[in-house]
Amino acid sequence: MTQDAIRIAGLKKTYPGGKEALKGIDLAVPAGSVFGLLGPNGAGKSTMINILAGLVLKTAGKVEIWGWDQDANPRQSRAAIGVMPQELNLDPFFTPRGALDVQAGLYGVPKADRRSDEILRMVGLEDKAEAYARTLSGGMRRRLLLAKALVHAPQVLVLDEPTAGVDIELRQMLWENVRKLNRDRGMTIILTTHYLEEAEEMCDEIAIINHGALVARDSTANLLTQLDARTMVIEPESACSAPPDTDAIKVDTRADGTFAFSYRARETSAEAVLEHVRAAGIRIRDVRTEQADLQDVFLSLTRSR
Ligand code: ADP
Ligand code: MG
Repeated sequence: MTQDAIRIAGLKKTYPGGKEALKGIDLAVPAGSVFGLLGPNGAGKSTMINILAGLVLKTAGKVEIWGWDQDANPRQSRAAIGVMPQELNLDPFFTPRGALDVQAGLYGVPKADRRSDEILRMVGLEDKAEAYARTLSGGMRRRLLLAKALVHAPQVLVLDEPTAGVDIELRQMLWENVRKLNRDRGMTIILTTHYLEEAEEMCDEIAIINHGALVARDSTANLLTQLDARTMVIEPESACSAPPDTDAIKVDTRADGTFAFSYRARETSAEAVLEHVRAAGIRIRDVRTEQADLQDVFLSLTRSR
């Protein structure tokens, strides 16, 4: 089945007061993928996710969730998506089990189909099922938000900065859960994150938005190779000082005595870098190249002009 889990066309949002948070986004998210939505602070990520979740009203455009048009079929489109919001908006007077019951009621999940115990176990809250939300730690509240997003067994799960400011243990638990939901149930996952290495590791496909507009949309692998930033690392025959920077080649000396040359493949050849090294009288014992990482892609696409 090749199908889009989400289809967005011409999506615009202008907040009261005039802030244009989304300036016409077209985007499709393939079913079954783990999809990363990246962008600097204020880019419009949460606005987009909150529109998908039905929490923010769009100004213009079309949103389809699992084939259901958000305007024509609001009930079906809402049932297909579960959202773990960025904000910790929990009612302090509910217990985790109570919160899941309320959520299940809101989504019309019949009592017989409710899987509260299974979901609480999955997020590691089985021991806290009867504790009041106000007594839960920040990490536990985040887990409860994930649990709530899963109550109606949505086809699409959206996580808005799920690991911002959480400890390593919780982060690992979250990613394990996300991988399992994607692998075992074929759930489509959309996530935003600040941690680019996380996106690189988790996401099959990535969209980058900046100032409310889409600036990149590709497989993670393609994004990484399309970039022309290169690093060549040279180990000299014997200890020596680094050759100088040029306009096109930036030189860093590393702690292990190797030199890292950063350059752009489109304007500088590897041969030119080697020539620069030889011209400095340096004999080369070993040489290797390093791949650009998502950080480089991200910076080159979102650098403010
Ligand atoms: P991100 O999640 O990528 O950091 P947001 O979607 O939260 O970005 O915000 C996009 C822009 O819209 C920002 O400039 C933000 O200040 C503005 N914004 C977000 N929510 C509101 C709101 N409720 N009212 C007015 N402006 C808002
Ligand atoms: Mg946000």
